[in-house]
Amino acid sequence: MAKAPSIQDSGLYRAATASVDLNNPALALTSLLTLATDLLRASRAALYEYNEGEGAFSPRYSHGVPIGDLGKVSASGDHPLVRTVLSDRRASAGDDRRGSLGLPLAPGVVACAPCVTGGQIMGLLFVGGDGSRTFEDQDLLTLEVMASRMAEVIAFARQNASQSYLFHKLTLMYQASHAIPGTRDREEAVRQTAGHLLKATSADFVEIKVFDEGPGLVTRFRQQLGRSIKQQIVETGRDPMPDYPIHREVIQALKPATIGLQPPIGSAKDLAMLEEEGMAAAAIFPLATGSRALGLARMLYLQRGRQITDQETELAQAILSIGAVGLQDAIHVETAEARANQLQVLGEIGREMTSTLDLEVALENAMHHAQRLLQAEACVLFLLDEPGEKLILKASGGSQMRIRDVAIGLEEGIAGWVARNRRPLIVNDVRSNPLYHSSIDGQTGLLTTSVLCVPLETRGQILGVIEGINHPRGMFTEGDQQVLSSVASWSAIALDNANLFRRIVEERSRLEATLVETADSVVLTDPSGRIILVNKAASQAFRINSDMAAARPASEIFVGHPLGELLMSDEVTFPISLEVTTPSDRVLYTTISEVPGVGRVAVMQDITALKQIDLMRSQLLGTAAHDLKNPLNAIRLGADLLLDADLSDQQRKALTMMQRATDSMTNLITGLLETIRVESTANVSFEPCQVNDLVRRAIEDLRPIAESRMHTIEYDPPKDALLIMGDPSRLSSVMSNLLSNAIKFTEPGGLIRVTAEADDERVLISVSDTGPGIPEDEIPRIFEHLFRGRVTVRDPNNPIEGTGLGLALTKTVIEQHGGKIWVKSRDGEGSTFFVSLPREPTPKTGSLRREE
Ligand code: ADP
Repeated sequence: MAKAPSIQDSGLYRAATASVDLNNPALALTSLLTLATDLLRASRAALYEYNEGEGAFSPRYSHGVPIGDLGKVSASGDHPLVRTVLSDRRASAGDDRRGSLGLPLAPGVVACAPCVTGGQIMGLLFVGGDGSRTFEDQDLLTLEVMASRMAEVIAFARQNASQSYLFHKLTLMYQASHAIPGTRDREEAVRQTAGHLLKATSADFVEIKVFDEGPGLVTRFRQQLGRSIKQQIVETGRDPMPDYPIHREVIQALKPATIGLQPPIGSAKDLAMLEEEGMAAAAIFPLATGSRALGLARMLYLQRGRQITDQETELAQAILSIGAVGLQDAIHVETAEARANQLQVLGEIGREMTSTLDLEVALENAMHHAQRLLQAEACVLFLLDEPGEKLILKASGGSQMRIRDVAIGLEEGIAGWVARNRRPLIVNDVRSNPLYHSSIDGQTGLLTTSVLCVPLETRGQILGVIEGINHPRGMFTEGDQQVLSSVASWSAIALDNANLFRRIVEERSRLEATLVETADSVVLTDPSGRIILVNKAASQAFRINSDMAAARPASEIFVGHPLGELLMSDEVTFPISLEVTTPSDRVLYTTISEVPGVGRVAVMQDITALKQIDLMRSQLLGTAAHDLKNPLNAIRLGADLLLDADLSDQQRKALTMMQRATDSMTNLITGLLETIRVESTANVSFEPCQVNDLVRRAIEDLRPIAESRMHTIEYDPPKDALLIMGDPSRLSSVMSNLLSNAIKFTEPGGLIRVTAEADDERVLISVSDTGPGIPEDEIPRIFEHLFRGRVTVRDPNNPIEGTGLGLALTKTVIEQHGGKIWVKSRDGEGSTFFVSLPREPTPKTGSLRREE
C-alpha cells in the first residue's frame, strides 16, 4: 500500500511554513515567487505591487518571464478574472477558453491570487501554465497562502521603508539645523541649504535666489547632484533666474508649487519657459521666515516623467525653513557688521573733517570714504558758486573722473533738484527719470545708472550736494541715504570751519597790516615777554630787525632799555605810561598794557616834536618872565626911593599901591617861572625823604607869619619813621603851599592842624584849618592854573594876596611823585587838604645793628 503522503509534503504546508528573510524583502519575495511556481508546477509567475497613486498594479518580480514584458494591471478590474479576485479576495484561474487572455502570463492557464494582509490588498500574484494542466482548488488554496505571505513581506518592507525614511529625514534635519544657522555668512547659508536640498530630493539641480535689498535683485546659485553634501555643492553660475509667472505666485502665497511637462502641470507660459530652459519639471519653494520672503528655491528635473515626491516636498520645506532662519541670521550679522563698519568710517570722517584745515584735502578724503561705504562707483561733491546759480564739482572719490570745470546749473539734473528742494533723492534707474541729464556724464566721463543725492546744508543754508553714483547692484537704499547724509553733515562742518578759519586769517592779516603800518610804534609780547610782533615804526625807531626779533625775550631785543625790563617784569602793575627815548633820541610817549590771552602790548607815540615845542615855549616864557623881572625890580626900587621924598598923602597912597602892584606882579612872574620849571621837567630826582622832617621844616618856616596872625599850629608827629621817595625841595614847597594857604585864608586866631599817618603802602598827610571853607562850586576848579576863589576878595579894600598858581603846582608835584591830592571842605566850616604818596619801606638797618 502506498504510503499516504505526509502533511509535511503537502503544498499548502510548504507554502505556509517556508522561511523568508524579512530583512531582505527582495530576496524573500523572489524566493516565495519561485516556491509558488514549484508548488503549482507552473512555468511562469509574477508579483504585482499595488500603487495607490496610480490606482494600478505594477509588476515587481517575475519568474520564467522577463519583467519588461509585463504590463500594468488596472485596479478598476478591467479583466473579469481580476475583478473576481479583487471582489472575492480569493484566488481564481482561467484558461485560454475561460478568460486567461488579457491577463499577465497569458496565454495558457493563468491563476491569480490577491496579496492581502491586515484587510488591505498589497498586490497580485500570478502563475501561469502551458494549458496541459489546469489548477485544482488545492492549488488555488496554496496560491492564496503564498500571496498572503507575500503581502506580509511587502507590508513589512513598506513599514520598514517608512521608518527608514523617518530616520533619513531626522538625520537630514539634524545635519541641516547644525550646518546652516551656524554659518553667519549669507553665501555659505545658501550653499548649505542647497546642499541639503539636493540630499533630500532627487532633483538634478537646485537653484536659490536671494532677494537683496529690494525685489528684483538676485544672487543665483545652481548646483549639481553628487554624492556627499560637499560634493553636491557645485556652483554653476549666477545668471538671473527666469521670471516665471509661477514664481510670483509662490512668493505671494508663500506656498510651494510644481510644474512639469509630462504629465503637463502648470500654466502654458510657465511650461514654455521650462521647456526653453531644457528642464522637464520644477518644484518651486518660497524661502521665507514667517511672512517675510527672503528668496526662492527651485528643484529642477531633467527627465520627463520625473517629479518631486510628497516626501521630498515635505523634506525640502523643512530644510528651507531652517535655511531661511540661517540666511536671516547671516543677513542680520552682515547688517550689524556693515553698520559697525559704517559707524567707524563715519567717525573717521568726522575726525578728519574737524582736524584738517585744508578743505580740499578734507573733502576729497570724505568722498573717498563715502564711496567705499556705499560701494558706489564714485562719490562726488558739488558746491554752490558765489551767486548761487551753478553747482561746481569740487571733490570726488572712486572711479577716475574729470572734475575740473564741471559745472551744472541749479535748474539742471538730479543734483539741481536736490539743491533746490533741499531733500535727498534716490534714482535707481536714471534713464527713466526725467531729471537725469546725460550731458553731465559727458562732462564727468561716467556712465550713470543709479544715483543717490543728498543736500549739503549748514544753519539752514544750502552749500551744495553730495552724489553717490552707480550702486554695485543698481539699488541705493534708505540706509545708503542715511550714510551719505552723515557724510554731508560732516562735510558741512568742515566747510563751515574752513570759512571761519579763512575769515579769522583775513581778519588777523588785516589787523596785522594795521598794526604793522600804523605810525605809532607797537611791540607785542606773549605773557612771558617773548616778542610776538615789532611793527614797522618800532623796528625803525629802535633799529630792530622785526623778523629776527620774533619769539626772543624782549630784554634781549631792547637791551638795557626800560622797555625791555618793563615788558618782562613781573612786578609792574599795568597799564603804565612813561616817556622813553630811542637810540636816535626820539621821545616816545609809551603806554604798556596787558592784553588778556595775548600778553603785553607797548604802544608808543612819537612826541619829540611836542617836546621841542614845549621846551621852546618854556624857554620863551622863562626869558620873557626873567626879562620882566628886572624892569619890575627897578620900578619897585624907584617907588621905595620916592617914599623918602616929601610927598602929599595922596601921592604916598599912590606910591604904596605901586609897591603892592609891583610885588604881586613879581610874585606872579616868580610863580610862573616856578610852574614852568616844575612842569617842564618830568624827570624828578628821587631820594628817600622823611615825612616828619618835611612837615616840621615847613611849620617852622611859616611859624612867624602864623604867629603874627595869632594862629595855633598843631602837629602830632607819627610814631614810626615814614619814608617817601621824592624830590625834597619840591615836596617842601607842597607842604609850604598848603600851610600858607591855611594861614592866609583863616581869620586871625584860628587853629591849623597837620597830621601824618601811613599804612603799608601809602603815606597820608592832612592840613586842616578853621577858615572860611571853599564854596562847593569852586572845589573842582581850585587846582587849575591861575584860579583864585571868591574868598580872596572878601574885603575888596584888602584883598588876600596870591597868584592862583600854588595849588596847581602842588598837584603837579604830587602826581609826579605818584601821589594824589584832594580836599574836603564846606563853605564856612574850614577846609582839609589830603595828600597821599607811595610809602617807601623803611630799611631795617637798626635791627641789624642791634644784632651786631
Ligand atoms: P592863591 O592861594 O594864590 O590864591 P592857590 O592855588 O593856592 O592860589 O589857591 C587857589 C584858591 O583856592 C584860592 O584862591 C582859594 O580861593 C582857595 N583856597 C586854597 N586854600 C584854601 C583854604 N585853606 N581855605 C579856603 N580857600 C582856600
